[in-house]
Amino acid sequence: MSNGITTFSGGKVGHTYPPVVLSFLGVISKVTDMGKRYKDLTGQVFGRLTAIEHLGLRKTRRFWLCRCSCGIEKEVVGYALMEGNTKSCGCLQSDNRYKHGQAYTSTYTTWESMKGRCDNPNNTAYADYGERGIHYVKEWREFSKFFADMGEKPEGLSLDRIDNDGNYSPENCRWATPIEQASNKRTNVYLTHDGKTQTISQWSRDKGWDRAFIGQRRNAGWSTEEILTTPKGCKRGVYE
Ligand SMILES: [Zn+2]
Repeated sequence: MSNGITTFSGGKVGHTYPPVVLSFLGVISKVTDMGKRYKDLTGQVFGRLTAIEHLGLRKTRRFWLCRCSCGIEKEVVGYALMEGNTKSCGCLQSDNRYKHGQAYTSTYTTWESMKGRCDNPNNTAYADYGERGIHYVKEWREFSKFFADMGEKPEGLSLDRIDNDGNYSPENCRWATPIEQASNKRTNVYLTHDGKTQTISQWSRDKGWDRAFIGQRRNAGWSTEEILTTPKGCKRGVYE
């Protein structure tokens, strides 16, 4: 019992009385206001609830009529208001459940799309993911593992790979804003050749070269054309 158990000094020493007895005896100040001494909560706001009318004691509990910000009126026990246990007519919990449900659903959809891009050749984005060798860690075959690593998708954010050429993994993924995602993409260098725009990593996969090799040619001032059409081992300008 939290409140109300107290030793009544006028009774047997050390004897503990239940709250109902104590309230009758006028021992507990919170419960016993036979003399109408109680904390006036009228007009006070508790979360979404505003206490509008004192309804009096019912057995040992004092009730208040409250109006919720959603418009519903509800009778609430005073101490539940004061201790912050009751903050709405019940609409708060159902809003939270709804939000949680929404977030859960959108996280699931995100996970499904990720799998689709990597696994399903019929997926419109497959060419930029699965076909390019972008995978997800095998643990993420199960939604529960993905959810455990990434948590709920915050509203407005999307699943972002920190290294755009890296895989979907707990280390390489985060929930990012569209701006973060765009700036992340800008850090990747894109080369356009033969009607295709790809990152250095994607080109290196196509060519069977390593990234550093393409980077070296770029840093040496080679044009994209020269970088991508000059076979490995050939000097710049020698090969047309
Ligand atoms: Zn409400």
